[in-house]
Amino acid sequence: MKKLQMVDLRSQYLNIKTEIDHGIQEVIDSCAFINGPAVQAFQKSLELYLGAKHVIPCANGTDALQVAMMALNLKPGDEVITTSFTFIATAEVIALLQLRPVLVDVDPGTFNIDLKAIERAITPKTKAIVPVHLFGQTAPMEEIMEMAKKHNLFVIEDNCQAIGSDYIFTDGTKKKAGTIGHIGCTSFFPSKNLGCYGDGGAIFTNDDDLAKQMRVVVNHGMTVRYYHDYVGVNSRLDSIQAAILNVKLARLDAYAAKRRTAADFYDKAFANHPRLKTPVRYAKSTHVFHQYTLITENVDRKALIDYLASKEIPAMIYYPVPLHMQKAYLDPRYKPGDFPVTEHLCETVFSLPMHTELDHDQLTYITSHVLEFLNR
Ligand SMILES: *Cc1c(COP(=O)(O)O)cnc(C)c1O
Repeated sequence: MKKLQMVDLRSQYLNIKTEIDHGIQEVIDSCAFINGPAVQAFQKSLELYLGAKHVIPCANGTDALQVAMMALNLKPGDEVITTSFTFIATAEVIALLQLRPVLVDVDPGTFNIDLKAIERAITPKTKAIVPVHLFGQTAPMEEIMEMAKKHNLFVIEDNCQAIGSDYIFTDGTKKKAGTIGHIGCTSFFPSKNLGCYGDGGAIFTNDDDLAKQMRVVVNHGMTVRYYHDYVGVNSRLDSIQAAILNVKLARLDAYAAKRRTAADFYDKAFANHPRLKTPVRYAKSTHVFHQYTLITENVDRKALIDYLASKEIPAMIYYPVPLHMQKAYLDPRYKPGDFPVTEHLCETVFSLPMHTELDHDQLTYITSHVLEFLNR
């Protein structure tokens, strides 16, 4: 059996090696390292894939979120609502821009932002909502957009974990995750569902004015060459990464299908187990399984993870600490107990290997050892 990893990038590479190597070599031969044809091609292909009017490539997912927020012209102290159960980058850029991260709890089933909690957190200072499509499912965007419209708020989707996921509206229409709010952000970090071989990211929008402004922001706030009308940043996707992404974007839906097959296997093996709760599938979103995350009940989670490690099965905790209990984000407004769902999840969840190359033998090996630990 092949060695188990949370994400097996090497086996995936070996299956697409010819095309990847050719793409990289082409960039080196052309020496168009910055903003070369591979970047233009990727931008167009991603716009087409997503059905988004504008894709703006940038250096990573954190930059994508920062640039999105810089384009909204917010003032220090303006409030931005986001979830307490996410990767730190979401709140980090809010804090960096001297805006106020206002955290809210999540839904215990989908792990995504709790609609009622958003409504309660809105104040006259609220300017934006940043839903995170956690672990591969889209947050309840239809309701979030209605709420945003009512209160005149921007919506920036943190789509770093759900690229390719479809959101299904009440009337049956579908949109890709990241294209429903005013702006969507994604990351091409190697382990993401659409990952490159280094750092990369992109911003999506259907709004011409926001697109224009964000293109200026990612390029040093430059409107005309060497004329800088805004304080911007330097955030680019390099051509070699774009060449890799061109190969992988063509396979994104096939990759999502492989992840779903692995998730179905896990679901079936753990179905109705009294001490494990398999991931809830939200009816209004397809799931692209960035992570396969289980909730344990009355399980010594550390002992379970140690046992799996002794069998060479990696398992991870996404995320062990709620945002409001992170040292850098301690805030007198928040105390332990404020976000009970997030806090419970941080104490009880664990994630199993999830990637495009998991085979039947590996899945059997993983599930049988998890069950063996629980049933002994
Ligand atoms: C990965 C990730 C980011 C940051 O992306 P980078 O490319 O690593 O900067 C932001 N938000 C979420 C939810 C992520 O998973």
